Formats: sequence, C-alpha cells, structure tokens
Amino acid sequence: MDCLFCKIIAGEIPSKKAYEDDDMFAFYDINPQAPVHILVIPKTHIPSVDGLNAENSAVVGKIFAKIPEIAKAAGITNGYRVISNCGDDACQSVKHLHFHILGGAQLSEKMA
Ligand code: 5GP
Ligand code: ZN
Repeated sequence: MDCLFCKIIAGEIPSKKAYEDDDMFAFYDINPQAPVHILVIPKTHIPSVDGLNAENSAVVGKIFAKIPEIAKAAGITNGYRVISNCGDDACQSVKHLHFHILGGAQLSEKMA
C-alpha cells in the first residue's frame, strides 16, 4: 500500500520517534505548528476518523490512554491540544489516521 505513514511505521521513511509499542507509533511532525508537535498513529492502516467502526476502534482508546505519557515525556507541562483532521474540509493531507499533539506554548483560542 502506498501510504506515507505506513512507510514511516515500517522504517522505510525515517522519522524522529517519540514513542512506540505494538499498537501505535508516535513521531515528531516534520513541519511543526507548535514548539512540541507530535503525531500518534495506529500501526494498522485506518484512513481517518471516518474509517473507524466497532471492529477497529479499540486502538483509539489505547492511543488516548498513552497520549498523556507521550506529552509529558516530550516536555509538555502546561496543557496541549489533540487534533485529528478528517477529510477534505478539515485539510487532512495524509490518509492514515493520526492524532496531532500540539503543546509547549499558549495556543490560539481559535481552532478553525
Ligand atoms: P494532516 O494535515 O493530514 O492532519 O497532517 C499530516 C501531518 O503530517 C502534517 O502536519 C505534516 O507536516 C506531517 N508530515 C507529512 N509528511 C511527513 C513526513 O514525511 N514526516 C513527518 N515526520 N511528518 C510528516
Ligand atoms: Zn497507512
């Protein structure tokens, strides 16, 4: 499958790893939009939030259970934002489910 994030998981494209276990991979965004900008992705290929269902969504709970640890290990101490862009109107550019962790500074009050 020609998926950028599947290639990052496989190590075919290098990335700066923040966390990894059997279910997920977390790495620093190549074009950070905050002092700390990490992407957390499931190791299974799910195209977006819109591709979630009762059969494949358990990994989302696992990812959210781990996000506080990932954020803390990355040095975030005063809060963070978790975002998942889904589909064209949200400007999703990589079609592999991912959660942005943004922190390390006061973020904009606006989300869109
Ligand atoms: P989206 O726009 O789909 O919500 O987010 C995709 C994110 O992936 C963007 O923030 C973009 O900077 C990041 N990204 C795209 N290609 C690469 C890459 O090759 N390596 C890393 N580390 N991040 C990438
Ligand atoms: Zn993928």
